[in-house]
Amino acid sequence: MKLEGKVALVTGGNRGIGASVCIRLAREGAAIAFTGRDTKAAKGVVSAVEELGRNVLFYKADVTDKGRVDEVLSAAVEQLGSIDIVVNNAGITRDSLFIRMKDKDWSTVIDTNLTGIFNVTQAVSKLMLKQRRGSIINISSVIGLVGNAGQANYAASKAGIIGLTKALAREFAGRNIRVNAIAPGFIESEMTNKLPDDIRNRTLDRIPLGYFGMPEDVAAAAAFLASDDARYITGQVLVVDGGMVMVM
Ligand code: NDP
Repeated sequence: MKLEGKVALVTGGNRGIGASVCIRLAREGAAIAFTGRDTKAAKGVVSAVEELGRNVLFYKADVTDKGRVDEVLSAAVEQLGSIDIVVNNAGITRDSLFIRMKDKDWSTVIDTNLTGIFNVTQAVSKLMLKQRRGSIINISSVIGLVGNAGQANYAASKAGIIGLTKALAREFAGRNIRVNAIAPGFIESEMTNKLPDDIRNRTLDRIPLGYFGMPEDVAAAAAFLASDDARYITGQVLVVDGGMVMVM
């Protein structure tokens, strides 16, 4: 177990990729604090982590609410002792062609996907800088690397995450805090299940490995980056996409 004795905070841990990350980090020995807005969805994750014999706490919190994020951080540290790992996973899409994109669709995506990470990371980094240790993992996307028609807001947020990751990796390196990003390709989840079949099929044709990824594939990458096996890795973007971006 690579994360024995560590405490991880996962945003949007109640379902999809975030839920898999919670379970995988717990399997590696970490205690888990996770957030989300949907309390009902969180119950399954709480049970799964408890079955693994790890401490687990769910906090209902919107990442765009800075005051609530600060409260959650304080409560998690009080209840679990520290935070060693943060996985900034919460994210949304509001797709439309740029010319028709509503102001609200732009701002909601930027506020959730990018400013949400600012809110969480600023709160946690105060603690990590004092501890002089930590691993921060930001979930970006291959769309942040190559763009996508109809996703200007999402692409901007995910590219912004990569810039933020590299800036923080430089700023925090001297205090033994590593900051990395994961750029998943097409991963089966509620986010991708709502896409029409023709888009799913066209995407599948562009994946060299020939199948869609599963949330567990991203969780495995997060477990690696969180662990001491990755102790010399910071400021990197780990692409988990079955080879899709390589051939784009
Ligand atoms: P899901 O839609 O299944 O899950 C999204 C998660 O984010 C939920 O837990 C949701 O919780 C949480 N969330 C959304 N908005 C907020 C908010 N304002 N405050 C707190 N939590 C929020 O998506 P995925 O699991 O697929 O995506 C997870 C991450 O991975 C996202 O950042 C996404 O962009 C990224 N990604 C996904 C890919 C894929 O193919 N699936 C590919 C590349 C990147 P709730 O709704 O309960 O608040």
